[in-house]
Amino acid sequence: MNNEKEKIAIIGAGVSGLIAALVLENHGFSPLLFEKTERVGGRVKTDIMDGYQLDHGFQVLLDAYPMAQKYLDYEALNLAKFLPGAFIFKSGRKKIIGDPLRNLSLLIPTLTSGIGTLSDKFRILKLNTELKKKTISDIFDGPEVTTLEYLRRRGFSDEIITNFFKPFFTGIFLETELDTSSRMFEFVYKMFGTGHATLPTSGIGAIPNQLLAKLKRTKIQLNSTLESCENGKLNFTDGSSKHVDYIVLATESSDFFNNMRNQEIAWKSCQTLYFTTPKNGDGRPLIGLIPSEGTFINNIFFHKTLSTEKSGPEELLSVTVVKSHNFSESELITQVKKELEDECNIRDLKYLKTYTINKALPKLEHLAGDISPSETRLTDTVFLAGDYLLNGSLNAAMLSGEKAALGIVDTIRGSVINK
Ligand SMILES: Cc1cc2nc3c(=O)[nH]c(=O)nc-3n(C[C@H](O)[C@H](O)[C@H](O)COP(=O)(O)OP(=O)(O)OC[C@H]3O[C@@H](n4cnc5c(N)ncnc54)[C@H](O)[C@@H]3O)c2cc1C
Repeated sequence: MNNEKEKIAIIGAGVSGLIAALVLENHGFSPLLFEKTERVGGRVKTDIMDGYQLDHGFQVLLDAYPMAQKYLDYEALNLAKFLPGAFIFKSGRKKIIGDPLRNLSLLIPTLTSGIGTLSDKFRILKLNTELKKKTISDIFDGPEVTTLEYLRRRGFSDEIITNFFKPFFTGIFLETELDTSSRMFEFVYKMFGTGHATLPTSGIGAIPNQLLAKLKRTKIQLNSTLESCENGKLNFTDGSSKHVDYIVLATESSDFFNNMRNQEIAWKSCQTLYFTTPKNGDGRPLIGLIPSEGTFINNIFFHKTLSTEKSGPEELLSVTVVKSHNFSESELITQVKKELEDECNIRDLKYLKTYTINKALPKLEHLAGDISPSETRLTDTVFLAGDYLLNGSLNAAMLSGEKAALGIVDTIRGSVINK
């Protein structure tokens, strides 16, 4: 059997497309990878500006993700770990809530923070223990309610929901009402509880760059935008075309198939603004949450509290806005600066850049944790990959890429055996 003969194209060099290429290579194929933009990574990219590392939106790698453990070399990524907790900023004052069982230094501040009741703290411990025992497939096979409903049913007080769970999970789900499925809450909570939130020292973009470096036989064509796709013929916007035997569509598929126009994905958006400032009063790597109802800023992070490969002379602050608004860019900067001063007591800010990410996370009604290779199959020759098939996470992107590649491998091997 000579696998090399099969022509396989992958459309999209985000994390799911890169994993699909890697898995196909591991099975003896040499795929062609077409990417619309000038570099790989999709939603996972890092820019360098004035010597600072700016990720395209604040994101973290949860090192407990099974797929990340399978495909990434953590040592080479030089992962820097966040502390398991958060600063809660309110009216210029700062409190800490954290997991003292994992970091003893968080015990006293958590107990004396006044955030949540004593029974909330017991409920958190109970949740940690329960979710540690639950497998990921138990979680995704389990019942689905909104995260808000889930927290209320578990008896958490309104105070801890408002001051901790809402801003923390708004920053993760990129929606302010906690109406994301409780399956995602349980999955993310389990990942936080069994591992760490981390960032590669050279920024989140190191993840796709590492995957790219692993590809030895994949031919990558950047700046190539697929326009349409019919019977194995790929048509690109520059007028060129290519015939292939199999396709992995590692991006939204509704753009390329007329019969899927009504199945377009809805997306959640966010903005991340970067500032520099001469000082940060506290060097601990904790995410900052801003729970006040009236503010636009949701979460902040001082990036120099983690070791970073490149860092300019001052502190780098990222600020994430999830709530929708009608501000112009300059009005937004003014508003964010004011809120940082009023709520977090942070001043002397120099604005660097804003990333507006309109398609940050897919808005999905039902979330899944796994998919079989055959379920990724759209037509005889087209297989789908992308986080939108499962849930909005790096783990899901990697898993979907692996399964789409295996779907093609199984199909080719099956057809070879049947011949
Ligand atoms: C702000 C933000 C914060 C996030 N935070 C986290 C987090 O903390 N933890 C976590 O696990 N996940 C997080 N995520 C989600 C994670 O980044 C995504 O789940 C993952 O990157 C999706 O990868 P993908 O390959 O499915 O899609 P994409 O990254 O969107 O890749 C699709 C690729 O296809 C290309 N493409 C599109 N159309 C065409 C075409 N016509 N022709 C050729 N190429 C095309 C695109 O340019 C892109 O490169 C976050 C995402 C964002 C944006």
